[in-house]
Amino acid sequence: MKVVKIDEPGKVSVSEIKVPQKQAGEAFIGVKRIGLCGTDLRSYTGQNPIVRYPIIFGHEIGGELLLETEIKGTKYPEGTVVTVNPYTNCGKCPSCRRGRAHACQFNETLGNQRDGAAFEFMTIPAEKVYPLPGLSLDDAVCVEPLSVGFHASRRGEIAKDDRVVVMGTGMIGLGAVIGAAARGAEVIAVDLDDEKLEIARLCGAAHVVNTSKVKLEEEVAKLTGGEGADVVIEAIGLPGTYRAAIDIVAFTGRVVYIGYAKEDVPFTTKYFVAKELDIRGSRNAAPEDFLAVIETLKTGKVPVEKIITHRFPIDEAGAAFKRWADSPGNVIKMILEV
Ligand SMILES: [Zn+2]
Ligand SMILES: [Zn+2]
Repeated sequence: MKVVKIDEPGKVSVSEIKVPQKQAGEAFIGVKRIGLCGTDLRSYTGQNPIVRYPIIFGHEIGGELLLETEIKGTKYPEGTVVTVNPYTNCGKCPSCRRGRAHACQFNETLGNQRDGAAFEFMTIPAEKVYPLPGLSLDDAVCVEPLSVGFHASRRGEIAKDDRVVVMGTGMIGLGAVIGAAARGAEVIAVDLDDEKLEIARLCGAAHVVNTSKVKLEEEVAKLTGGEGADVVIEAIGLPGTYRAAIDIVAFTGRVVYIGYAKEDVPFTTKYFVAKELDIRGSRNAAPEDFLAVIETLKTGKVPVEKIITHRFPIDEAGAAFKRWADSPGNVIKMILEV
């Protein structure tokens, strides 16, 4: 079967390996869609500090069961559309002990700290599989990345009628927009790109702010009666947006950071205290976030066909990475098709 590897920064190869043997308790999956994630892009560009080359990337999967499979006590027939939970956990660290295994201290995500799923067939413990009867392969490949944004909206304890700013409308930000809107919030989506903001609107944003044209603080003040946002979700990872989140959040509001900032960020910390803020990180997604995304996808209201902006056949994986690295601007979700 075909396998895609990032051999070293800037070099992607497609080669042949043996089809894996299914063991007891495993599902045997025909991989049909592989989503490319920001971490995969950083592995390609050489900016992912934890990756060891060569790496088989891939942790966003849309596939089909190739055999009838029992998953958590229910039998699903061959051909059932599925996705997988790509995280591992140790069971012993503080996160695992607190029931937050998705943020395990020793997590190894497929395709990142260990080999992933960029190949034609995969075997994986059946309990890691989410069966998705009624959903499409395109829906399936979007479940994990949308779950990461949904998780951030849960970390923000977003409630009905909260005014929520989501900074960044890439895949993760869109997941946060959809998650916040599903919780009944009034969502203000922020980006530099009008096309992405239009998609954010389709995902449930009530307002959009293009900060290449208007000032963020003024717009948020206007839209919140001068109070600031109840919750700000930062899904960009730049020092400027990390600081802006503190400026635009209301007194006693909540700030959730999902964007990985590569540089140190200096803060005016008096606002942490004066506003009595809850400032939280958000990492990966928990099973309940996956299930919430799956339920939301079943409504048919998530514009998956707009969120998947680029498609390449698996043989052209190298061209896909090059395209994304060369002009990342309008890429929301790029996928490989098998
Ligand atoms: Zn990802
Ligand atoms: Zn752990």
